[in-house]
Amino acid sequence: MKARTRFAPSPTGYMHIGNLRTALYEYLIAKSSGGSFILRIEDTDQKRYVEGATEIIYNTLKTVGMNWDEGPDIGGEYGPYIQSERLPLYQEYAHKLVELGGAHYCFCSKDEADEQKDEEMNIKFKDPCKNIPLEEAKARIANGEPFVIRQNINKKGKATFHDVVYGDIEIDYDELDEGVLLKSDGFPTYNFANVVDDHLMNITHVVRGNEYISSTPKYNLIYEAFGWTPPIYVHVAQVMKDAQHKLSKRNGDASFQDLVEKGYLPMAILNYIALLGWNPGTEQEIFSLEELEKIFDANRINKSPAIFDITKLRWMNGCYIRALPFEEFHKLAEKEYAKFITRAINAEELSKVLQPRVETLKDIEEVAGFIETLPTFSEELYINKKMKTDVEIAKKSLALALPALEKLENWSNESLFECLKAVATENGLKNGQVLYPVRIALTGLETTPGGASEIAAVLGKEETLRRIKQAI
Ligand SMILES: [Zn+2]
Repeated sequence: MKARTRFAPSPTGYMHIGNLRTALYEYLIAKSSGGSFILRIEDTDQKRYVEGATEIIYNTLKTVGMNWDEGPDIGGEYGPYIQSERLPLYQEYAHKLVELGGAHYCFCSKDEADEQKDEEMNIKFKDPCKNIPLEEAKARIANGEPFVIRQNINKKGKATFHDVVYGDIEIDYDELDEGVLLKSDGFPTYNFANVVDDHLMNITHVVRGNEYISSTPKYNLIYEAFGWTPPIYVHVAQVMKDAQHKLSKRNGDASFQDLVEKGYLPMAILNYIALLGWNPGTEQEIFSLEELEKIFDANRINKSPAIFDITKLRWMNGCYIRALPFEEFHKLAEKEYAKFITRAINAEELSKVLQPRVETLKDIEEVAGFIETLPTFSEELYINKKMKTDVEIAKKSLALALPALEKLENWSNESLFECLKAVATENGLKNGQVLYPVRIALTGLETTPGGASEIAAVLGKEETLRRIKQAI
């Protein structure tokens, strides 16, 4: 069966990692069956509307290569794909549902805040308006009385349904409340708009957070009243920061943009979240989106909450950085250099040194900060047992290296390395006794990305000589 799935985000202004994972699973369910992935914008909650937020959704999906087959910007057979443009549809279907006995007109002054309170206190609101004869209700509406449309929960006993991840689920009808489907302003609630849209758009699989499991029988009652077939349900566990806490916006680590901002590559993030709650059944961990499209199987989604492991993401990001074509890494790295390096350097040489050594793009400033500003350091740094150097040997080596470097014309890593090696040989020193002090003099750091000759190549002749003179 060719699946039709939809990603239906609200334009909130940021892409939560959990939402992006939902989108990815929806995308993969569609693509692994040769089906279609649909983008639908759920903007009926006007209070939550954020300017420019739809663009963030578009850009995020495009950046990671999750292209949609139908959507607000490209259209499709089942449009419009923005809920606020579908209001007449919801109204039509809500009134139809009343006629079919799945809902009723309600004139209570109960507002949304009350509903929220009921939900929190676990009170199931049973609406007295259910007993108003339909003709009377219609007369009151014709008279201009404000109304909402509420769902009828008439069934008793247990509702059952199947979920791909959680198996067969039973929920007592008594636990379902007769919630609002269409508000007095003519806007649908999430619960209603989703069902109508999923049916009208021929959606076959619905992926969503497991917090919706308990509401699913309500959706099924709506499908049943209309005589529609419900979709296949795929409820997924929450993404957690740790065993107790959800990944939240407040911690600044919950959104795709936050992670990109922190130097993670979009495709590494996508690869990581694919495995956050799903396992391929093999040891393989690095997957391109194309590979995932081929092998994804929703039956392998885990029931237990997924814990977002930043250490694992760092590792994975390092793999992606190392796998980048050099030119691509260099382009990304140059943007980072521009943030903290003002002097003229051999940027390509620096990128060569850094690509195998950093795990995120943000690491660059941390490990290469010495290029802009030489840190003040203690001479004790010259003392190194393994390199057989101490302060005295170091000062002597630097004094010997200086004239050799002053004479050197081809300022490349290779010829710098040969030059410094020659200084050692000609003076009866070990290579390390020259290379190590030069590296310390140029960086002021015990550990650095790259050796003496690589760093000298990055710094350029003038700055290298200046730092060595300063050290002598
Ligand atoms: Zn009522």
